Amino acid sequence: MDADDIRAAFLTHMESTGHERIPRSSLVPTDPTTLFTGSGMQQLLPVLLGEPDPRGTRLTDSQPCFRAQDIDEVGDERHTTFFEMLGNWSVGDYFKQHQIDTFFRFLTDVVGLDPHRLYVTCFIGDPHHNIPRDDEAALIWQAAFASRGIDAGIAQIGSAAAGDARGIMGNERIFFYDADENWWSRGGNLSSTPIGDPCGPDSEVFYDFGPQHQDPSYGLAHPASDGGRFLEIGNQVFMQYQREENGTFSPLNRRIVDFGGGLERIAAAALGVPDVYAVSVLAPLLKVVEMLSDTTYAAAPGPMRVIVDHVRGAYFLAVDGVIPANKERGYVMRRLIRRAITTARTIGLREQFFAPLVAELGAIYARAYPETVERGDAILATLRREEKAFRRTLDGGLRALARFQGRTLTGADIFMLSDTFGFPPEITIEESEKLNIAVSKDWDLVYRRALQEQRERSRASSKLGAENMPQ
Ligand code: ATP
Ligand code: MG
Repeated sequence: MDADDIRAAFLTHMESTGHERIPRSSLVPTDPTTLFTGSGMQQLLPVLLGEPDPRGTRLTDSQPCFRAQDIDEVGDERHTTFFEMLGNWSVGDYFKQHQIDTFFRFLTDVVGLDPHRLYVTCFIGDPHHNIPRDDEAALIWQAAFASRGIDAGIAQIGSAAAGDARGIMGNERIFFYDADENWWSRGGNLSSTPIGDPCGPDSEVFYDFGPQHQDPSYGLAHPASDGGRFLEIGNQVFMQYQREENGTFSPLNRRIVDFGGGLERIAAAALGVPDVYAVSVLAPLLKVVEMLSDTTYAAAPGPMRVIVDHVRGAYFLAVDGVIPANKERGYVMRRLIRRAITTARTIGLREQFFAPLVAELGAIYARAYPETVERGDAILATLRREEKAFRRTLDGGLRALARFQGRTLTGADIFMLSDTFGFPPEITIEESEKLNIAVSKDWDLVYRRALQEQRERSRASSKLGAENMPQ
């Protein structure tokens, strides 16, 4: 099954068990306090917090997500800024038994994953806050594995660090971790769960690519390790508690299941390849870059991942109406486009490449997201305009930067490059490294001071301007 098949099969599988398919939300959330939609549950927050949903108590969708906070992870095998999250929700309807059984059957019967390759985690409990270990979820998992003839051992791990030291023993397949790994609340941690909020344990599902994929510098392999052997493909949150005024946790009347699974990651598991860029919604983009750049993905995996991730991310931001700008969402989009272009230079890709990648993206997403077709011309125009403008900036800035060879670049120089040539500081730093130009240690401080001074100057002059206005 490729990514398209998996997305379609998931939605059909959920619809056949009584879920209403809801429209995805825009990457630009209605909530003005968040920059981007980063999960399927975001649009359902009011419902999770107690409002009824007229569409029913069983909901499902496939949600395009954008996580600017993952931008520094891009280049590894498992993180992209943009990805699709398959989701299903039970609002006061079914709970752990039905959720775990349904997801397990989806992964094994529908996607065809070998159940021997699946490993799961559950919450170890918190005696201090009177929250029991989630034996309920662990026992449901154990029975699910037993139904496939797998004797799944249960292990008490605790922290991820404890897991790094201990690893996996014998037939262990179900792992109890602490609240850092297996507790969900809007505050992140258990003790920072906001008063009045629903919260609860979660149970994550991992795919085992085999011990040969574990990077030993991460310690021994276990599901919550980032060492490469295990890939988290889905997370089931079981909201069954509510935080009280006095800080304690009481049972929630209307319990909620919130499931989110990464489409690209499930598709990678289906391929048996621990690289999300190998799946059908990303591999064709790599092919285009390979063709244009006369190097191969195998030779330059990091830069190629950055290029295709950033172009795809900027593309979907354009689909949802974001325009490159100097602040907020537009700035993130601008950064993606600029980094894609500067990274492309490092693999000898100097001509304009957005158009062919956008054409490929159009072909990949036309069926699942028809809005990509409807807005096709506008998307291409937005991206190409920014691409062209930045190329001009880049050429000017790089010529100016080259003159610093043999000298040490100061914060004032970096400010000048940004002020005069529009050359972004982060790119100056990256490019200086490539050109072997030393950068002074305190550049950041000096740069920020110069920026601040400039802001004050322009504020003062605009004030002056206002005072001089004729009455
Ligand atoms: P990780 O620890 O691997 O970064 P996460 O804990 O941030 O993942 P969740 O917030 O639980 O992930 O999101 C639900 C699912 O979405 C994950 O199980 C994973 O399959 C997928 N996912 C999360 N972040 C990314 C990403 N940056 N790229 C691709 N898929 C992702
Ligand atoms: Mg997680």
